[in-house]
Order: sequence, then C-alpha cells, then structure tokens
Amino acid sequence: MKAKSIPHDSACQRCARCCEYFCIEVDAPENKADYDDYAWILAHQDVAIHIEKKQWQLMVHNRCQYLDPERGCQIYEKRPRICRAHVPGDCERDHKHRHDYDEMDHIITTLDELFAHRDEFFRQKRRLAAKRRKRTLSAKGRRRKR
Ligand code: SF4
Ligand code: SF4
Repeated sequence: MKAKSIPHDSACQRCARCCEYFCIEVDAPENKADYDDYAWILAHQDVAIHIEKKQWQLMVHNRCQYLDPERGCQIYEKRPRICRAHVPGDCERDHKHRHDYDEMDHIITTLDELFAHRDEFFRQKRRLAAKRRKRTLSAKGRRRKR
C-alpha cells in the first residue's frame, strides 16, 4: 500500500527544492592530483561541486524517492533528521544568500570551471609563498643589522 502523502511544513508550500539533491562534505583539493580526481567525479552526470566558506561538498542531483508527484513528503512523520533540520527561513528558498544551485556563484558544474578554480588556487598559493619568502628575508636582514 502506498504511504499517505503528507505535505511539508506549510511554510514550505510544496517547494521541495531541498528534496531534489543531496550534498556530502568532502576534503578540498590540495594538489593537482586531487583536482584531477574531482575532474573524474565531475565528469559524471548530475554531479556538481558546491563550495561554501572553503568547505567542499559533492552535490548530487537526484530527487528523494519519497517525494510524491505533488511535491509532498510521503514519510513526513518519519523523515530523517537532516530533513527535519532543514527549515524555511534558512534554506535554499528563503536564505538571503540563496543556495539554489541556479543562482549560486560558488558552484562548479563543468571541467572548465574546475580547472579555472585550480589555476586560481595555485596562483594564490604562489602569491602566499612569495610573500612568506619576502617576510623571512626581511626578518633575516633585520637580524643581521643588529
Ligand atoms: S525547507 Fe526550504 S527548500 Fe526545503 S521545501 Fe521547505 S522551503 Fe523548500
Ligand atoms: S524524506 Fe521527505 S523531506 Fe526528506 S528529502 Fe525525502 S521527501 Fe524530502
């Protein structure tokens, strides 16, 4: 027997955006081999990389099997705690910095975007290393003068 469909919290108004994908936290890449591994992941359909406050997440676009055609939750009373914690007012629909993947600027969906991120990452790393070298050299210079 099909479970009785129970609508989301009324404030959700059957939006169901958060029921159409899931994210898993992953380690941010640190070297070229890591970026290459992410290229392999990203080459698969319906997968994106979501970066928020430097935290990397794999975003898999795949609707929940308990979402009914009218966008209600069929297991509303037994829904997992992640669903319970996801509430209107602090979610994709209402958040002032919307997380909706259509509008996010920190979402990587193509290999070109990933490689652009990689190039920028290494540019920044080189800049930081050069700054550190400069600081070390000037500190050594100051010590010699004493
Ligand atoms: S929690 Fe937010 S994103 Fe999820 S269904 Fe409700 S309003 Fe939509
Ligand atoms: S269990 Fe219900 S609330 Fe949770 S993702 Fe599935 S349909 Fe949405």
